Amino acid sequence: MTAAAGRNTVDPRHRRIWRALAEVEDPEIPYVTIVDLGIVRSVADDEAGDPVVCITPTYTGCPATRLIELQVRAALDRAGFPHARVETRLSPPWTTDWITEEGRRKLREAGIAPPVPGAGRGTLFGADPEIPCPRCGATDTERISEFGSTACKALYRCRTCREPFEYFKCL
Ligand SMILES: [Zn+2]
Repeated sequence: MTAAAGRNTVDPRHRRIWRALAEVEDPEIPYVTIVDLGIVRSVADDEAGDPVVCITPTYTGCPATRLIELQVRAALDRAGFPHARVETRLSPPWTTDWITEEGRRKLREAGIAPPVPGAGRGTLFGADPEIPCPRCGATDTERISEFGSTACKALYRCRTCREPFEYFKCL
């Protein structure tokens, strides 16, 4: 399961819900929404016909998790779905593979290098894979610190444009 289920639904109610959720920004990364990050896993109806929104937080125990639930709740209310339920699912755990193409583009625009598959999962075999600079695209970059502004990001510097940037680590 890589893409969120039912995102291209034809059900007009579910489409409205997906649109409402696409307005909810991630608390830690401005401009990137919870749909971009793949946090919204599915929108479906329960037996009573009420919509159920399933979300998987990016990091278990992350203080932003509760905030995201509240924001989803508020978005559903605004969109006219007060009876919709929000369910948090922790299994399977969220992975950076769920970030959409749109999400990766927005990360780059925010100056954050999106996750490179296979990178950062340990350096057992030596050199880290190249992390392209989100500003100039150069691959001549170096890691300055394992941790950036949050634990899920590392701090890098581009040797070409000399700018530091954050890299969204793979999970
Ligand atoms: Zn650069």
